[in-house]
Amino acid sequence: MAEYLASIFGTEKDKVNCSFYFKIGACRHGDRCSRLHNKPTFSQTILIQNIYRNPQNSAQTADASRCAVSDVEMQEHYDEFFEEVFTEMEEKYGEVEEMNVCDNLGDHLVGNVYVKFRREEDAEKAVMDLNNRWFNAQPIHAELSPVTDFREACCRQYEMGECTRGGFCNFMHLKPISRELRRELYGRRRKKHRSRSRSRERRSRSKDRRRGDREKRKSRDRERSGRF
Ligand SMILES: [Zn+2]
Ligand SMILES: [Zn+2]
Repeated sequence: MAEYLASIFGTEKDKVNCSFYFKIGACRHGDRCSRLHNKPTFSQTILIQNIYRNPQNSAQTADASRCAVSDVEMQEHYDEFFEEVFTEMEEKYGEVEEMNVCDNLGDHLVGNVYVKFRREEDAEKAVMDLNNRWFNAQPIHAELSPVTDFREACCRQYEMGECTRGGFCNFMHLKPISRELRRELYGRRRKKHRSRSRSRERRSRSKDRRRGDREKRKSRDRERSGRF
């Protein structure tokens, strides 16, 4: 029994755990949640809370009838923000596998930035350092996050452009960066790998892992399609 409990501890099977916190790393009930938020002691992923400000949201409240910031301007502003944070994470703390930004409006998700590092040590280092720093005249709040699989955390309906819950959805609405920036950030990294020794080995290893992830994802999609 003890063994069984140990094996489910911190997972979804343990019913006292909050599945929102477990999957999304943020729950609208926050500290008042009746279920457990098991904060990880090790993780590749960090959450930087409420740090991205979409200029269209503040512009809209000032003039509800017409948005003062065009979509093109908003995307440029967003790409700039994304590039700045991504580059700084890699330069200061270590290689980033994936970075995602929420476009949700609820307090617990608005402007959240999730950075998944290749190494847990880098994530730990980042959290410690970021909590002593400021961004846009605000102190940064960073923490280790339980999120490892962003597919599980994302809102499927949003990706298909049909989420009826809008900005207050409790699943992640991830804001896409432009294709050019994606190529620049993730493409540049692949080039960097190539120039290192042992790069071939590492590359094929990560390819295998990606393939594994894809398989897992497919089977989960099949599972999920029944549920939704
Ligand atoms: Zn909760
Ligand atoms: Zn949604």
